[in-house]
Amino acid sequence: MDTPEKTASRPIDFIRQIIADDLRTGKHRTTVTRFPPEPNGFLHIGHAKSICLNFGIALENNGVCHMRFDDTNPSKEEVAYVESIMRDVRWLGFDWHDKLFYASDYFPALYDFALQLIRLGKAYVCELSAEAIREYRGTLTEPGRESPWRNRSVEDSLDLFQRMRNGEFAEGSHVLRARIDMASPNLNLRDPVIYRILKVPHHRTGDTWCIYPMYDYTHCLSDAIEGITHSLCTLEFEDHRPLYDWVLDTLQTPCHPQQIEFARLNLTYTVMSKRKLLQLVKEGYVDGWDDPRMLTISGLRRRGYTPAAIRSFCNEIGLGKRESWIDMTVLENAVRDDLNVTAPRVMCVLDPVKVVIDNYPEDQAEELEAANHPQDPAMGSRKLPFSRELYIERADFMDNPPAKFHRLGPGREVRLRYGYLITCTSVVKDEGGAIREIHCTYDPATRGGSAPDGRKVKGTIHWVSAGHALPCQVRLYDRLFVVENPEADKDINFKQHLNPHSRIAIETAMAEPSLAGLAAGTQVQFERQGYFCADTVDSAPGRPVFNRIVTLRDTWARTQQKLD
Ligand code: ATP
Ligand code: MG
Repeated sequence: MDTPEKTASRPIDFIRQIIADDLRTGKHRTTVTRFPPEPNGFLHIGHAKSICLNFGIALENNGVCHMRFDDTNPSKEEVAYVESIMRDVRWLGFDWHDKLFYASDYFPALYDFALQLIRLGKAYVCELSAEAIREYRGTLTEPGRESPWRNRSVEDSLDLFQRMRNGEFAEGSHVLRARIDMASPNLNLRDPVIYRILKVPHHRTGDTWCIYPMYDYTHCLSDAIEGITHSLCTLEFEDHRPLYDWVLDTLQTPCHPQQIEFARLNLTYTVMSKRKLLQLVKEGYVDGWDDPRMLTISGLRRRGYTPAAIRSFCNEIGLGKRESWIDMTVLENAVRDDLNVTAPRVMCVLDPVKVVIDNYPEDQAEELEAANHPQDPAMGSRKLPFSRELYIERADFMDNPPAKFHRLGPGREVRLRYGYLITCTSVVKDEGGAIREIHCTYDPATRGGSAPDGRKVKGTIHWVSAGHALPCQVRLYDRLFVVENPEADKDINFKQHLNPHSRIAIETAMAEPSLAGLAAGTQVQFERQGYFCADTVDSAPGRPVFNRIVTLRDTWARTQQKLD
């Protein structure tokens, strides 16, 4: 099982510092954090930052992290989302043990708290329309105006609120508002709505409720009910903190968690809002939430990203108070670094051209020993069939190569990875001038790739035996958007920045036969090409489909480049 690293390798961040201080001074004896997704979409890489933070802090301090579904808007929420979220958090390597909660479980308690606020004169039923409420709220430069219902009696509000709950009123006709300060410079404190009528069944509570509490009201009370010590959220909630504190102070809850905000993850070449991701799915720009180009956890998983790579990315980007952008290459490097260590090396020719070894017997085949990982002998080796006819990459041959081209050309000698040195003697072209076959001779004394006479051969290329090769489909994925920030210009729809070449399907690829038995979801390195993963949805027995996770840039690729 894939388990998270207990200690972060970077200097302690400001949140961990606050928590360490609270434990040291005895303000808290333990830490209780929570991850509170709204089940209205799939989780994305931004959520991973929050998951790694909240569950990470629990692991580091022997605390607990609650899994809580913030399910207060039944019109947008679905059980399917709840299930995908749980699967994704577990896959990332985290465990909430028995601490699974739903805000909807607190509906009765939240209703009682609302009655209490009314009795305290701190909430009232308002009959202004949503539009009028917005108008009355004022702006950053003008104070708001008081609702004509603001000073109705406690008895009236109690009666009306109960009748709201009983379904006597139409949606939009009545709301419950906190009675705070219409002149507050903080708009969130200008008598915010805390309950609205929604005649929509809820995926957990069915038809029990037709009034639903608002996020700001629900969140702080859910935290308090669960005994959360530190409620960590993204910066856009900073202006909501006074409301968070007002609700808990006014109700004098025994537990008053500390809300701390951090900067959300912004990643280049992607969009992170669930609403926009949903649009891409619904409008068919991608093949679902788990499309390997999506920066959802399910998309990253299908693409071949590992939980360790995503955790390492979240650790590396750190935690701050200032909005910032992380370059996509940071994420790509994280998975490269992980797979460089863990992924077995194999060979696959994406754009094959045939090589005929004229001095190799026609009906002969032999097996060559190939290391699964050149730097890690513990990963063992496998047998590669070698025969008279091979495939190599079309780009590894040039008819008229410049001196610096260290691969194959007429009269040139090249090394076949784990195989022999071969020398090109002639080429056969079709009428159009395209190369059909490359004829070579091999040097039987160079089995394994080195010449006993010590002659230098710079280039090494990958290959597969034509008669043994496994045909497969390879999908070359690239970034989904062509610009760094697809949302930068409000007047241009983000979808206009979609990359038309974000997926290129290659039908011609030929892989070494050992890949026939590769389990779907397994990562490998195609030598010189990149890291790939057998697709879990579209691979068929004997006909794998490979997703490119990321291109290559490890040591071997670098030396290759230099040599080429
Ligand atoms: P929406 O896009 O629908 O507003 P959301 O992305 O905020 O929703 P939630 O389900 O409310 O989604 O998020 C759950 C938790 O994940 C919240 O605590 C939120 O702050 C955090 N989170 C969401 N996006 C990011 C992000 N980009 N970086 C860091 N944390 C995030
Ligand atoms: Mg949210």
